[in-house]
Amino acid sequence: MAKVLYHDDIQEEVLRSKKVAVVGYGSQGHAHALNLKENGFDVVVGLRKGKSWDKAVEDGVDVKSVADAVEESDVVMVLLPDELQPDVYENQIKPNLAPGNALAFAHGFNIHFNQVVPPEDVDVFLVAPKAPGHLVRRTFEEGAGVPSLYGVYQDATGQATELALAYAKGIGSGRAGILKTSFQEETETDLFGEQAVLCGGVSNLVKAGFETLTEAGYQPEIAYFECLHEMKLIVDLMYEGGMEYMRYSISDTAQWGDFVSGPRVINEETKERMKEVLQDVQSGAFAKGWILENQVNRPQFNAINEMEKNHQLTQVGKELRALMPFVKQTKKKKKEEVVT
Ligand code: NDP
Ligand code: MG
Ligand code: MG
Repeated sequence: MAKVLYHDDIQEEVLRSKKVAVVGYGSQGHAHALNLKENGFDVVVGLRKGKSWDKAVEDGVDVKSVADAVEESDVVMVLLPDELQPDVYENQIKPNLAPGNALAFAHGFNIHFNQVVPPEDVDVFLVAPKAPGHLVRRTFEEGAGVPSLYGVYQDATGQATELALAYAKGIGSGRAGILKTSFQEETETDLFGEQAVLCGGVSNLVKAGFETLTEAGYQPEIAYFECLHEMKLIVDLMYEGGMEYMRYSISDTAQWGDFVSGPRVINEETKERMKEVLQDVQSGAFAKGWILENQVNRPQFNAINEMEKNHQLTQVGKELRALMPFVKQTKKKKKEEVVT
């Protein structure tokens, strides 16, 4: 089994003498900044003026422009949206990095796909919490933490690994477990997971099931409950006790259906498609497409987003959830449950 490090396995002194700039104060940024600060580390947040700036001020953290925050810090954690990182890095971070500083990320995309090319004289490490930012914060407040992956891309000072571990402990992950990875592994598995299984796989499975039932003449409301609403209940069981606990909880009829019909829907052919998706992630083809899409203002992203909004599944869902106040999502809650 992979080696898992916990709180007491990690020395944090190396980070105690340093100042940390957390760039961005969104889902991950606010959690990293507040957790580190409450653990006694010296933290400044780097931002532009706007919503996040106001929130950071309200939360009582020290806020400066990105350039100023980076300039006065030793460790710079970049928690901007991935597609904006190259531009902010080039114009505001890079000119203010000094030799011996550390540049850190919560996702390996921009380093692995060469969208951010750091100077050779800085450390570059990754601390990727395997949870949405709001859980990174909430579990910390409860005295626990979420698991994190750490990895080192460049070790200019000889201290990059120690720093990464101290940082992971600083945000609370020592309470849940810290595992070693590389930028390549984190990037490729994260992209594959969200595309083939978590986001792309699940949403298209739900949609195909919904369409199959409605096209056969069943009521869309019933199809919505069967194919989307109940998904959470099943996934909660898997989360708590794995596939075996889910199967223990469902009826034997459902379990028999799982065994005989599941493999007819998700079969060798599906797995072949998954391998193609993984291949596109590994070859950089997916990254290239997404980078170019952003450079031309997301025409395809926006068009598909519009089409999806008009799907019957979306419309029926809106009506049904309005009748179920207990599942009603606030904007905040929605962001909380984002998987990235
Ligand atoms: P968010 O979109 O939640 O937050 C982005 C932050 O960046 C906001 O505070 C925003 O401020 C700020 N920002 C945007 N543009 C600029 C700019 N030009 N100058 C200064 N600040 C700016 O990002 P996430 O927290 O979701 O993602 C951050 C990183 O963490 C990404 O690398 C992501 O892959 C990774 N990650 C995210 C996870 C998650 O749970 N969301 C999970 C694991 C990793 P403003 O209010 O001004 O727009
Ligand atoms: Mg992701
Ligand atoms: Mg992920």
